Amino acid sequence: RGAGSVCMIVPFRDSCQGGSQSVVGERARHLAFFLPYMHHYLAERGGSANFILVNQTARGYFNKGVLFNMGADVAMEHGCTYLVFHDVDAIPLDTSTNSYEPTRKPTHLSSYVQGLEQADFVGGVLARSEIDFIRLNGYSNSFRGWGGEDKDMYYRISTVFGEVTRLPEASGGYKLMKHRRTLGERLHAIHHVNIGLSEVLPNEESVRKRYAIMSKDGYDLSLIHISEPTRLGM
Ligand code: UDP
Ligand code: MN
Repeated sequence: RGAGSVCMIVPFRDSCQGGSQSVVGERARHLAFFLPYMHHYLAERGGSANFILVNQTARGYFNKGVLFNMGADVAMEHGCTYLVFHDVDAIPLDTSTNSYEPTRKPTHLSSYVQGLEQADFVGGVLARSEIDFIRLNGYSNSFRGWGGEDKDMYYRISTVFGEVTRLPEASGGYKLMKHRRTLGERLHAIHHVNIGLSEVLPNEESVRKRYAIMSKDGYDLSLIHISEPTRLGM
């Protein structure tokens, strides 16, 4: 599928550093639910999308920003013009609309989640054109462990576009699948001090290019992130 196509980029790792045995498998359960649901969701609405799974198999801190950047690079190489950055645990509610119709500006799609206040948040599901992705210089690669990269992206979008567009309630309703968070991820929250300075943080090629392409049933592409040893991460 070529120009004009929608591409969903899904970051994934089943277990994580510091995780207890009980956590292993939880993300895999989300992944197993996600893809069939999404295919069905799009088919019912006459929509279509390419799916890229970006799997961090290496140990060390999970780095969603790097996974998103890798997926975006490959999606753009394949001619995708509308990129959807999609957490595997975020599921669009079964309303009559299609949440994945391309929008003109960077748009927070999962804008209505019951019980979640999202004032300065663009996590969950975020979409934009490939031109806007380049203009924003992608995600920061600097947030290892849980969180930070989404909030940083909120600041990038507000800085460049003045505001963050969000889907109205009719199409922005999402459900987040439940999971635990591991101690190892939470301990790393100290790196959130970078938030707000990130316009100047680099998005280094060398980090983004460390992947191998694999195949996985149901996905148009599957990337394996091969992380390099870092002082912080390993
Ligand atoms: N993720 C993953 N494995 C992990 C941590 C995160 O696959 O160990 C991916 C997954 O797609 C998840 C997304 O990163 O939906 C966001 O992470 P998380 O769900 O922990 O964030 P939160 O629930 O706090 O938004
Ligand atoms: Mn989650």
